[in-house]
This record gives sequence, structure tokens and C-alpha cells, in this order.
Amino acid sequence: MTILNGKEIAAEVLTECREKVGTLQSRGVTPGLAVVIVGDDPASHVYVNSKVKTCGELGIHSRKIELPTETTQEEVLQVVRDLNGDPAIHGILVQSPPPPHINEEEIIRLLDPRKDVDGFHPVNVGKLVMEDESGFVPCTPQGCIHLLEKAGIETSGANAVVIGRSMIVGKPMALLLMGKGVNATVTVAHSRTRELAAVCRQADILVAAIGKPGFVTADFVKDGAVVIDVGINRVEDSSKKRGFRLVGDVAYDEVAPKCHAITPVPGGVGPMTIAFLMSNTVKAAGG
Ligand code: NDP
Repeated sequence: MTILNGKEIAAEVLTECREKVGTLQSRGVTPGLAVVIVGDDPASHVYVNSKVKTCGELGIHSRKIELPTETTQEEVLQVVRDLNGDPAIHGILVQSPPPPHINEEEIIRLLDPRKDVDGFHPVNVGKLVMEDESGFVPCTPQGCIHLLEKAGIETSGANAVVIGRSMIVGKPMALLLMGKGVNATVTVAHSRTRELAAVCRQADILVAAIGKPGFVTADFVKDGAVVIDVGINRVEDSSKKRGFRLVGDVAYDEVAPKCHAITPVPGGVGPMTIAFLMSNTVKAAGG
């Protein structure tokens, strides 16, 4: 069984980004990423800080825009309009989830698709469907595919099952897996899927993007499968200083022994997401 080390593979992606930033800078361009966060969701603030920190390590200019929970929809839209028109900013992301009174979809639609480094704007979703590489691919599924490639996993003709159909993970993941180059045969499962464990047992490659700690147990997994655990869930743990620990959607201890390869949580998909955010930002700046 191989543990797919996302930290290590992400570090290689970041090294490539750093080199491209150097080349851009020698042409007088410093890539710039704006991160907008509305409200005080603690996990979101952790993600945003880690994105900003990684920008600093690569020489990417970052601007963190923190807005209070009571910010109106129109105020957020105005921030996005200003960033769309700001030549120092090549990438914009609005951290999810915003407070409930904010309409996230309207904000995404307002983004300049050329600055939409999360790949959520309809233009970029369309380009992903069309396999037009000029678009931006959502960072998490892009990272998962890269992990599979780097680990030398044979995807062509493989049966892949993706649990989850969100716009952020499940749907783009399924599209990438079925794409030309990757060539898997894909099943997308969700909360209405019947006989979910039996469906998952068909998978040579099983991707879990559900948001439920330890949901995928050993009976979901065929011997020798590759398991990609996208889930990041906080579970209470009084032995930890912060009072919780992070676990995936996969019951790692019982599933790992059955696998050919598996991603751990933390240290699997998470670092890949940030690495491909940086990669998309460099691409947005022309790198
Ligand atoms: P969503 O809540 O948007 O989607 C969850 C999906 O899981 C839905 O499609 C839902 O089905 C499906 N689901 C829920 N319950 C079941 C069930 N009992 N059986 C089968 N399917 C079920 O979550 P996201 O896609 O945004 O995120 C998923 C997980 O990935 C979360 O833990 C999140 O924190 C993590 N994540 C990690 C990232 C990383 O960098 N590693 C980045 C982004 C997310 P239905 O559509 O029918 O409701």
C-alpha cells in the first residue's frame, strides 16, 4: 500500500510556480492574487491565511480583503468590480462559504473569467466541459488528477467512482477523470444513489468528496483500489490543544490496508489544492 504524499507532490508544483514567477518578474510582471473573505468562519480564515502565506513564499503579491459578516451583497459585488479592473490583480477568489445572506453565485458570475482562478465562473466550467485548456480548472480536482499522474496510477479504462456532485469537487472531478488524456469510465454517486457501497466496490479509483467523517468504510472498497479522500472534517478531540482534529471522508485505518494507494488527511489532497491555486494564479498572470 502506498500513501500518496500530497505535501511532497505539492512542493514540486510550488517549485515550478516559483520558477515561473521569477520569469514573469524578469518581464516586469508580478502575479497578484486577491482573496476576499466575508464573515468570521474560523476554518475559512485558516484556509485564507495559508493561501496568503504560500503567495508570500512564491513571490506572488497577495491582497487579503476581510469584510465583516454584515457586509451587503452590493458591497461585495463592488469589491469584485474593483478587483476586476485592477491591473495589479490577476487572480480573484471569494472564500466559500460566505454568510447566508450573500448570494455566492451572483458574485461568481460577476468575476472576470480571466481572473477566476478557482475555475467556478460559467465560462471556465464550459471550457472544462469542452476540454479547452485556456480556462481555469478548479484547484482541488486538478490536484487529485495530478496526484494520480505523479503516483503512476493507470487511469485509462479504469472504473472511477466519485462520491459527491458539487461544483467545487465532484462534478469537475468526474469531468477530468472522463477527459481525453485520463480516460477513466466514471460513475458519479450522491445522496440518492442506491446500493452506494456496492457501486463503490466497482471502483478501481474511488474519490470521496462528501463532507462526512469516516463515511467510506472498508465495505465500500475493492481490494487493490486507489482511494482519494477529499474530505476535510473537524471532529472534536479534547487531547488536541485546539479541541479538534481533521479527518477525511474515509475511515482510513480500516480502508488503507485494502488499498493499492490512498491519500491521508491531512497531507493528501489539501496541499494540492493550494498548490494549484498558485499554479492558476501564475497562469492568470501569463506564466
Ligand atoms: P458539498 O456538501 O457541496 O457536497 C457533498 C456531496 O456529497 C453532495 O453531492 C452530496 O449529495 C454528497 N453526499 C452527502 N451525503 C451523502 C450520502 N450519505 N451518500 C452519498 N453522497 C452523499 O461538499 P463539497 O464537495 O464542497 O466538499 C466535500 C468535502 O470535501 C468536504 O469535507 C470539504 O471540506 C472537502 N473539501 C476539501 C478540499 C480540499 O482542499 N481537500 C477542497 C474542497 C472541499 P447530494 O448532491 O445528493 O446532496
